[in-house]
Amino acid sequence: MGPAEAAALAVRLRSAVGDERVLGAIAAMPRERFVPLSERPRAYENVALPIACGQTISQPLVVARMLETLQLQPDDRVLDIGTGSGYHAALLARLAAEVYSVELHAALSDRAARALAAAGAHVTLAVGDGCRGLPAHAPYDAINVAAAARRRIPPALIEQLAPGGRLVAPVEERGEQRLALLRKRGDELLVTRLDRVRFVPLRS
Ligand code: SAH
Repeated sequence: MGPAEAAALAVRLRSAVGDERVLGAIAAMPRERFVPLSERPRAYENVALPIACGQTISQPLVVARMLETLQLQPDDRVLDIGTGSGYHAALLARLAAEVYSVELHAALSDRAARALAAAGAHVTLAVGDGCRGLPAHAPYDAINVAAAARRRIPPALIEQLAPGGRLVAPVEERGEQRLALLRKRGDELLVTRLDRVRFVPLRS
């Protein structure tokens, strides 16, 4: 297992994902490092898989769609909420300059730290409630939320977006989850609703 399977995964995503930088990041990322040993045989399948603490590593297609939605620039500073396995954060780190990632469960954050180091990805991890964002390093050019918010995105996250910043998050409304893209333009907040998804809930 290794880069050959990751490259094959990126090829399979090509019909649904147009951004070559995103596909390149997926092709270079050893997803097997981010899943429990028992799930390694399935690490390069396009499916969500169980990780510790009853959580999941997201489906690669959904991760890729969220990454391309953020339109990351190489000098961007990014906040990721819900570190989980660290896989999504590792991909963000290949596409942007600085990545901060917040996780509620310390045990998951510890495992993610080891996986990120093994994959050679530089991400600054924090343990705590991501609904509060990470004010110490704000503002962020992009914010990625990997757990579903009930109806509204936590206001602290919107506050910590830089002018021109983008935020992508699954939002649950009337029993249905969809990705939402928020863009900050001056005093205006532009909201676009995108793909249907299934994420674990964002705890508050
Ligand atoms: N991005 C992850 C997938 C994470 S699943 C990956 O690539 O593997 C969602 C994660 O969000 C879970 O690990 C869950 O513990 C975490 N989470 C849920 N609510 C949270 C909150 N309020 N603050 C921080 N993390 C939270």
